[in-house]
Amino acid sequence: MSILLALKVLMKESTCLRRYKHVKSFIEGKGEPEVAVVYCTHGDETAGKKAVEKLLEEEQPDLRKAVKFVFANEKAFQQGERYVDTDLNRSFPGSAESNSHEERLAADMMEELQNIKVLDIHETSTSPVPFALFTWSDEETVDTLRSAGVDSAVEISYTSGCGINHYGGVEVEVGPKKSEKAVNQAYKLLKDFLINQGVVKGETDYSSPEIYKVYGTVSKLEEDWMPVSENFESVDEGDVIAERDSGRIVADEDFVPILFSDTYSNILGFKAVRLEKVETSFYSQGED
Ligand SMILES: [Zn+2]
Repeated sequence: MSILLALKVLMKESTCLRRYKHVKSFIEGKGEPEVAVVYCTHGDETAGKKAVEKLLEEEQPDLRKAVKFVFANEKAFQQGERYVDTDLNRSFPGSAESNSHEERLAADMMEELQNIKVLDIHETSTSPVPFALFTWSDEETVDTLRSAGVDSAVEISYTSGCGINHYGGVEVEVGPKKSEKAVNQAYKLLKDFLINQGVVKGETDYSSPEIYKVYGTVSKLEEDWMPVSENFESVDEGDVIAERDSGRIVADEDFVPILFSDTYSNILGFKAVRLEKVETSFYSQGED
């Protein structure tokens, strides 16, 4: 067998062996990527996609290092929906054999996003924005967090099934959902992240966000409660946190409201504490 033929056979076999991937990803720049940018984990949150397109198509920057881009849920995006079968950000670690489109995507993403610094861009209707969510406190995650340039970050390992629980990395929330403002915020975070990671030329500017840790939720039995407390601003026991025509809900203890909005069906939002005392030690993990 000639060398050329042997090579062709080998290439054909390796193509056959490669499992079909459901998630769409591509690499820009030269080399092995150390950072990844994920968008459309929720198909109806398009700010990240628009920001990436603005950067790659309009600005076409000179990339000094490779970046992996992951267009997480293209099918849900095409349908204009958050998800097709199950919420992707509750479907991790997923399964390649699952009947759920999102569980198959999650399994692919677990492979795509191992040992790489991940910035996953989401949109929210809560305010204020932007802010970050993370679950791991290892050096890479802290570095990613500080690279994104946000002022507030929430440790949310309390929830499970999110991508960041399984592959590390940082989610950023921009808003208001479906606005031009959200796209501009996403673009700024993306650019800051890539500059701070040495991918795009620019002046590095790491942020030192306030850190909050989620430890619980405030449930609601009916959908029509409107939150009246401000996210990231402490409430005291007895403060009114939600109301509707027929009454009000008061805080049963002191806490910091996080992600309070009228969008969840069964909870008002999350309860958190501000990690003032461990802030220095928390950051020291990311310092050399
Ligand atoms: Zn989202």
